[in-house]
Amino acid sequence: MESKYDSLLEIHDLSVSFKMYDKALEQTDLQVISDLHLTVRPGEIVAVAGSSGSGKSLLASAILGILPGNATVGGHLHYKGLELTPERQINLRGTEIALIPQSVAYLDPLMKVGKQADGHKKPYPTEKRRGLFKRFGLPEKTENLYPFQLSGGMARRVLVSTALITDAELIIADEPTPGMSLDQALEALKMFRELANEGKAIILITHDIDLAFEFADRVAVFYAGTTVEVADTEDFRRGPEYLRHPYSKALWNALPQNGFKPIDGFQPYAGNLPTGCLFNPRCPYATVECRMKTPPVTRIRGGEVRCFHAT
Ligand code: ADP
Ligand code: MG
Repeated sequence: MESKYDSLLEIHDLSVSFKMYDKALEQTDLQVISDLHLTVRPGEIVAVAGSSGSGKSLLASAILGILPGNATVGGHLHYKGLELTPERQINLRGTEIALIPQSVAYLDPLMKVGKQADGHKKPYPTEKRRGLFKRFGLPEKTENLYPFQLSGGMARRVLVSTALITDAELIIADEPTPGMSLDQALEALKMFRELANEGKAIILITHDIDLAFEFADRVAVFYAGTTVEVADTEDFRRGPEYLRHPYSKALWNALPQNGFKPIDGFQPYAGNLPTGCLFNPRCPYATVECRMKTPPVTRIRGGEVRCFHAT
């Protein structure tokens, strides 16, 4: 679909650090996101894939402006071509930008879920919400229940409905499907596709890479708080020789259907990051340059990659 904006959301050089106190009560900065980039265009589903602790949920919080008070954010965030200032974040969240949070603890424990799903900032038509509940197989009486009366899977479907009822142009779905049956998960993803086809955009955070491959247009691979590769989903479907970063290739090879080959070593913890390329300690191709310098983002075969040796 044609749009006024080339990109709905543009993020460059994003960094997030937390002010922490160490054992000696000295204040330190814990860097958890660095040099992260992501572009989201109207009409597309962009999957964000990466193992636990790679910064996926923090990215969502940074976009919405809901990071904890001890967080410092750097870099550039633009929405519809304009800087995403804290004031704009307050105005946009829950209306133009909606979050499906990773934790069901986001539900207000003291409010019936029907009322919560009708919208806080601006009430949406009850009929629209009932339609969503029905589509997700939530029985009619669900609207009168409190969050503690729901199973995990029901709570998650309520959270998805709460975001989908808005007219948001950007939906950030942070691991929306765990606890759902396969049918329910597919229904949620089908709805994301419908919204994208209407010109909206979805950031689908997931570590269910198969689901991402099935529904996303592009995939961004995160590692230790940075974007290592962004590629068309088609490249992931075709195989590792079509990917650009050694970590994306390794992720592909670690999928059950591709032989389940594990990647040696561990993702480094924030506070203990290597210098240079964050993947260098695990990378079979690492050279002195990789240990000294952060690789810049380069465009190769239509994708973006941060690796000195990518071809
Ligand atoms: P993901 O969603 O990819 O699993 P997160 O974005 O939640 O990862 O977290 C990325 C990193 O930031 C993790 O190492 C996590 O421990 C750290 N982190 C998250 N929130 C905080 C916080 N409030 N204070 C300090 N560190 C945090
Ligand atoms: Mg997370």
